[in-house]
Amino acid sequence: MTETDFRAALHVARTQGRKALDEPSGKAILASFGIRVPAFRIVRSDADLAAITAELRSPYVLKVVSAEVVHKSDFGAVKVGLKDQIEVARALDAMRSSLAARGIRAECWLVEEMVPAGLECVIGGVVDPEFGPMVMAGLGGILVELLGDVAFRICPIERFDALEMLRELRGAALLSGARGHEPASLEALVDVLLKVGGKQGVLMGCAGEVSEIDVNPLIVTRDAAIAVDARFILTPSA
Ligand code: ADP
Ligand code: MG
Repeated sequence: MTETDFRAALHVARTQGRKALDEPSGKAILASFGIRVPAFRIVRSDADLAAITAELRSPYVLKVVSAEVVHKSDFGAVKVGLKDQIEVARALDAMRSSLAARGIRAECWLVEEMVPAGLECVIGGVVDPEFGPMVMAGLGGILVELLGDVAFRICPIERFDALEMLRELRGAALLSGARGHEPASLEALVDVLLKVGGKQGVLMGCAGEVSEIDVNPLIVTRDAAIAVDARFILTPSA
């Protein structure tokens, strides 16, 4: 996504009265800043599935795209580990009916490649009225959600700050592979933190337009960090 595409996505979102960008747009922005996202395609009808599953590598993940659904898992609207086109089509059918039964309208669907297991981290940021853009990091979704184990810094951060943020987390040992976990790439994680919170990062680049960014989770494996979810909350327009 180029700067122009980004402005266009924001404009469309605002004219539609949205408070947030949809997941594909959020991921396209992350990718334009050099952050890895799973290869994905947008599905508008069942007829798209044959071509899409042929282009992407199995196993697949299916998700709904809808402004009415913020936490997709709460609605059963994320299905991982789908082996082939038939499984994706079945999952899509089931998801479509269960959402429709709850009166929820799907705008479209997302099929993406499933990322190998790794340490699920949370990276994000807010634009503070006083301090401006601030970047946030947490390790392990559960530690973030249950214990609020996160670190914040004012942007822009340098490599030193990124390392310090990770070191001060209570769950820091998870990175080196505590409790039978595979070790996760510190390098890859620091790189994403800098791409989000650094001088040329997403938060500095979007601060006027975006009030909050949430990448939950960023899956960090032995050699890569991949953003599998992305939420960009827009600054309310003046
Ligand atoms: P939610 O809106 O519920 O946060 P997510 O897109 O974060 O939905 O997906 C929920 C969970 O499903 C993630 O926390 C992750 O464990 C798993 N998941 C989602 N997408 C992928 C993917 N592409 N590869 C592997 N796991 C995924
Ligand atoms: Mg998520």
